[in-house]
Amino acid sequence: MDQNQMWKVALGQLELKVSQGNFLTWFRDTRIKEIKKGIAVIETPSAFAHEWLSRKYRNPILTILKDLDSSVEDVSFCIHSQPQESIGITPERRTPNIVAQKVPRPTPVPVTKKVAATPITAPVNKTLNSRYTFDSFVTGSNNEVAYAASRAVVGKPGELYNPLFIYGGVGLGKTHLLHAIGNEILIRTPSRRVLYVSSETFINDFVQSIRERNTQWFKDKYRDVDVLMIDDLQFLAGKAKTQEELFHTYNTLHSEGKQLIMSSDRSPKAIPTLEERLRSRLTGGMLVDIQQPSYETRLAILQEKAVATGVVFDQDALAFIAKNIQKNVRELEGALKRVVAHCELNKEKASLAYTERVLESILDQPQQRAVDSGKIIEVVGLYYNLSQSEMCGKSRKQEIVRPRQIAMYLLRQENRTSFPSIGDLFGGRDHTTAMYACEKIGKLLEHDEGLVQDLNFIKERLYA
Ligand code: ADP
Ligand code: MG
Repeated sequence: MDQNQMWKVALGQLELKVSQGNFLTWFRDTRIKEIKKGIAVIETPSAFAHEWLSRKYRNPILTILKDLDSSVEDVSFCIHSQPQESIGITPERRTPNIVAQKVPRPTPVPVTKKVAATPITAPVNKTLNSRYTFDSFVTGSNNEVAYAASRAVVGKPGELYNPLFIYGGVGLGKTHLLHAIGNEILIRTPSRRVLYVSSETFINDFVQSIRERNTQWFKDKYRDVDVLMIDDLQFLAGKAKTQEELFHTYNTLHSEGKQLIMSSDRSPKAIPTLEERLRSRLTGGMLVDIQQPSYETRLAILQEKAVATGVVFDQDALAFIAKNIQKNVRELEGALKRVVAHCELNKEKASLAYTERVLESILDQPQQRAVDSGKIIEVVGLYYNLSQSEMCGKSRKQEIVRPRQIAMYLLRQENRTSFPSIGDLFGGRDHTTAMYACEKIGKLLEHDEGLVQDLNFIKERLYA
C-alpha cells in the first residue's frame, strides 16, 4: 500500500477523533516519511506540531496505522528537513488559512496594519479558511436562521445584527459559518479588515500582553479591525480578566460600528461564570442557534460533499451514512472521507455494500460504547489502585477524589449517564457533585497532558 494513501486514510480516521481546530492545527502538512523496520516515521511541519503529535496523538496514530498495515509496530516523528520559517514569531503566516492558531507569540510583535494587498480573485486572509463558504454550506430547518443571519451580516457589517452570536453543539457548522461570513465580506470589500480567532488565541494573546506589560499590540490586533470573530467562546468561562478585556474590546468596536461575531457550543446563558454585563452585551444583538440536522439535511450535505470528492456514490450508500450518523456534520464528513479513501485505495465503487463494510467498525462503536457502569468504576479504580468501596465511599482524600471524578466524567462521556444516576452510582451523592466532577475533569483535560494520557489508557482498557 502506498504510504501517501495510507496516511490519507489514517487522517480520515483521525479527523473523526479530533476536533476540527486541533486537526487542522496539528495534522496539516503531515505525511508518512517512511516505514522502516516496523517504525512509521511521521513528518511534521514544525517542532511544535512534532511535540504535540508525539505527546498527544501518538497512541491513536499508532492504533490506526497498525490497523491499516499490520507490519507497523511503532511510530516516531520528525520535522520537515526543509527549513521552516522560525515558528513562534509569526506563527499565523506559516500556514495560510489555518483555522486555529495555538502557537503562542513569544515576543510582543507589534501588529502592523493589516495587509492591504488586495488580490483580484479570491481574497487572502490568513485567519480564514477559504473552503468554508456560504456556497458549500447546506441549509435545512436546523440552521437556516443562523445562515440567514450570517448572510444579513455580510450585507451590512456592523449595522444590522451586532453582535451576532451563533451557538450549537460541536460539529454543526458554527466555525464554517464564521469563516463564510469573513470570506464573503472580503469578496465584496477586499479592503475590510477581518480577523478570525479561536477563543484560545484571544486568551493567549491577552495573557501574553499582560505578561509582557505591553497591551498596545493586543489592542492594535483586536480593535483595529472591521470585523472581529471569536470562535468557541465557552472557553472564556471562568477567565474573568479575559472577559473584562473582551468587554472593553466589544465596547470599542461596537461604538465604532465594527462587527463582532461570536460562537459558542451553548447559549451565553449557559456559559458558567460569564460576567453579567458581558453576557447582556453578547445577547444584545442577534442570538441564533444551530440544531442537529434532520435526515434530509444530512443526506443533502452528504450529496454536496460527495460531489467534491470525485468518487461516485450510490445513493443508497449515502442514505446509509445519513441514517447511521446523526449527531454532527463533522462525523458525517469523516465517514464520507473514510469511504472515499478506502474506495481510492482499493479501487472499489462506493456501493452500499462496500460503504457498510468500511464503516462497520466506526458504526459499531455506539453499541460498544455503552460499557457497563460498574466496569468503568472498576477500571478507573484498578488504574489508580483503589477498591470499589474506596471509589464509591465517603473519603475526601485527594488521591481518591480525583479518580472518583474521573470515573464520573467517563460515565458521562462514554455512556451519557445522567448526573443524578451518576450520583446514585457513587453512594447516593448529589447530582451537583457529578456535574462539578465532569466540569472539573473537562477543564483539567484542556491543560493536563498527563491526565489526557491517563484517560487514554483507561479507555483503552475499557474497550479492550
Ligand atoms: P462547529 O464549529 O460547529 O464545531 P464546524 O463548522 O467545524 O462545526 O463544522 C464541522 C464540519 O462540518 C466542517 O467541515 C463543516 O464544513 C461541515 N459542516 C457543518 N455544517 C455544514 C453544513 N450545513 N453544510 C456543509 N458542511 C457543513
Ligand atoms: Mg468550531
